[in-house]
Amino acid sequence: MKALVYHGPGNKAWEDVPDATVADPTDVVVRVETTTICGTDLHILSGDVEAVTDGRILGHEAVGTVTEVGAAVTGFAVGDRVLVPAISRCGRCAYCQRGMPSHCQTVGGIGWIFGHLIDGTQAEAVRVPYADTSLYRIPEGVADEQAIFLADSLPTGYEVGVLAGNVRPGHTVAVVGAGAVGLAAVLTTGLWGASRVIAIDSNKFRLTQALDFGATDAVEVGPGTVDDVLALTDGLGVDVAIEAVGYPQTLQTAAALVRPGGTIANIGVHGVPVELPMQEMWIKNITLTTGLVDTTSIPTLLTMVASGRIPAEKMGTHTYRLDEIERAYEVFGNAAAHEALKVVITTR
Ligand SMILES: [Zn+2]
Ligand SMILES: [Zn+2]
Repeated sequence: MKALVYHGPGNKAWEDVPDATVADPTDVVVRVETTTICGTDLHILSGDVEAVTDGRILGHEAVGTVTEVGAAVTGFAVGDRVLVPAISRCGRCAYCQRGMPSHCQTVGGIGWIFGHLIDGTQAEAVRVPYADTSLYRIPEGVADEQAIFLADSLPTGYEVGVLAGNVRPGHTVAVVGAGAVGLAAVLTTGLWGASRVIAIDSNKFRLTQALDFGATDAVEVGPGTVDDVLALTDGLGVDVAIEAVGYPQTLQTAAALVRPGGTIANIGVHGVPVELPMQEMWIKNITLTTGLVDTTSIPTLLTMVASGRIPAEKMGTHTYRLDEIERAYEVFGNAAAHEALKVVITTR
């Protein structure tokens, strides 16, 4: 089969690899029909993720069809159309049992294993361990180009941004960074009845998208960003500031926007330490949350995509065939220049 293989920082190739097969009785093999590229894949290609070694097939998001089933799998059969989420789970370890499979101790000490600790989904097929407890059947009426964003970006924006931030009816919410995950937070914040959703970005295209995704206000980053946002509130700041970039400056901006008693929900993938004004934050009763997605909200989100409540397909701005994946990386890697959010890579 063909797959996109990592060959050290800056190097990848679409090349022939051995076919994916069932190795353990709890595995299935899924023929990949749709996949996408995550910002994390770009971090890997920059050499930021040491656990990813030469020869690893990239990718941790897929929609496809089960083609082979291990002897111990009871919940899925050949021909089932499934979502392969970014997080795998054994279902039995202490973390899985408390609903936090992001730290499943059985699959590798972390639930994110595809394109990280084992071969991933940017391939014609993928081996899926612990299939019974990891896969989701896709309801009728949900298209590939909707379901694919439930593998990672939508649950990340929803769980690590909206749910961790504890957004409640009437809240004012600022989302710092209107890339794919920030927009996923914008798209799902309204479900909790936020009165105001303020998108903040330096890119005009993304701000336009944010308004289309349900933001009530768009603020372009500049010297007056904080004042501009405070002016949209009662002057005290927002109830919830969601950070979806991963730079020190953007987390500091989120901290400057939040009102007393509010929450900063950090989604961004940080690579360096960040200095925060704890001397101000403690006395303002600020909560700061962080996290790796669990993807436990997928059943909820699938239901809302199926009913038309979440237009997940809006995340995909560009579509490529699977054998054009290197071109898809070029576009996603320069997303702002190409006015791209997420790319849909499909065999259909
Ligand atoms: Zn990801
Ligand atoms: Zn587990």
